[in-house]
Amino acid sequence: MTCHLAIVGSGPAGYYTAEAAQKLWGDDIRVDVFDTLPVPYGLIRTGVAPDHQSIKGVSRRYETTALSENVRFVGNVTVGTDVSVGELQQLYDAVVFATGAPHDRPLGIPGEHLANVFGSAAFVGWYNGHPQFAGLDPDLSGASAAVIGMGNVALDVARILSKTEAEFASSDIVAHALDALGASHVHTVTIVGRRGPHQIMMTPKELGELMHLERASPRVDPADLPAAADDAMLEPGLRKSVGHLRSFAAIPESERADKAIEIDFDMFASPVRLIGEDRVTGVEVERTRVEAGRAIGTGETYVIPADIVVACIGYRSSPIPGVPFDERMGRFANDEGRILPGLYAVGWAKRGPTGTIGTNRPDGQGIVERIAEDIASGAIGGGAKEGRAGFDRLAAERGLDVVTFRDWKKIEDAENRAARDGAPREKFVDIESMIRARG
Ligand code: NAP
Repeated sequence: MTCHLAIVGSGPAGYYTAEAAQKLWGDDIRVDVFDTLPVPYGLIRTGVAPDHQSIKGVSRRYETTALSENVRFVGNVTVGTDVSVGELQQLYDAVVFATGAPHDRPLGIPGEHLANVFGSAAFVGWYNGHPQFAGLDPDLSGASAAVIGMGNVALDVARILSKTEAEFASSDIVAHALDALGASHVHTVTIVGRRGPHQIMMTPKELGELMHLERASPRVDPADLPAAADDAMLEPGLRKSVGHLRSFAAIPESERADKAIEIDFDMFASPVRLIGEDRVTGVEVERTRVEAGRAIGTGETYVIPADIVVACIGYRSSPIPGVPFDERMGRFANDEGRILPGLYAVGWAKRGPTGTIGTNRPDGQGIVERIAEDIASGAIGGGAKEGRAGFDRLAAERGLDVVTFRDWKKIEDAENRAARDGAPREKFVDIESMIRARG
């Protein structure tokens, strides 16, 4: 008996789930991997920083899965609009949401809607060529930028704002971002953290990169650092990250002199208001102290100048009509990935925006085990579903312009051919160009 599986989302969580399904069921599985975009790989393409090409290399593994007989890519199809969740449930034994967390968490403070204030989903999408954000057009003509948050996304954004054109040579940053960053006047990037060094979410490798930037130098106020002996109680990764902060604090002024850009860590600073008439000019913060891991306001406020603000404070998933959603957590309401019989969530759509790309692998395996248990218990399955043949009929009736994996390979070829010297590709940044490139 063949099991028909629909996976919604072709990023890491989607393809690791497809891979795990294939491993478990072999020839007895048919997997359709849906994506709104005509191009696969989700966050690998539009989230991972363009200068982190080694991380993007994992897409070769997903391609192996995508090219196998029983897995297919169904691009340019939006579940919830082109086809409803109910229709997928009628056609497939199980529907798995691997839709990630594409929306910015709001800061929830006054001034958030001023011009030149962006969430990281939008800003990262802009420099990575996500069609939804390619037209963002951030104004980089001011001297100062504030990056809110102390996680790896904040580090990505601060680094991208600081690199020279030469440092992007082997990256796949899109042309419009490379041009805008080349003309940028930003020379102070302030990373704003509401807690202290022991509470950062930044990982050591990523933090260490700040020491090796051509024209930028990180700065930490030594007064913000706890006693060195206190680092002993930290888990090793965090201890190493804090060690980097200590090195940043120890950089002599003479070494900073020849660096045009400063990446300044402003910790114990909780944003209370964004300031400006129409356009942002600063972030008002309240000084905090940390007690039992929590930021406590001290009542003292000050303003960090900022001609552009990027809030890197986490993401939320997109609700889909008819699918239970946990508003507080910003993800699908689920119990270990089970939403309802036959409906599952995996990756960020299941657990929220945490972990690395690799965390999605055991997540994918776990969800396939849940599905297998539900088939074994008779909760789902039974061999009555039509699977992809039924979807193809529905797509033809509706005139959906489905982009296949073979089409994607043509798009990819065109992107590879258009690459600048030394770069892996020049991405298409609008859907029409992607579709045109498949011939
Ligand atoms: P994150 O690691 O959860 O960091 C979010 C940061 O935002 C935290 O410092 C948090 O501070 C702060 N924050 C939240 N709400 C805030 C508010 N209202 N005001 C001020 N600060 C606020 O999230 P992320 O950086 O978006 O990363 C998401 C996931 O992707 C993480 O697992 C990350 O490691 C991963 N990622 C990995 C890489 C890589 O490996 N190279 C690159 C990018 C992303 P509190 O701690 O005080 O709440």
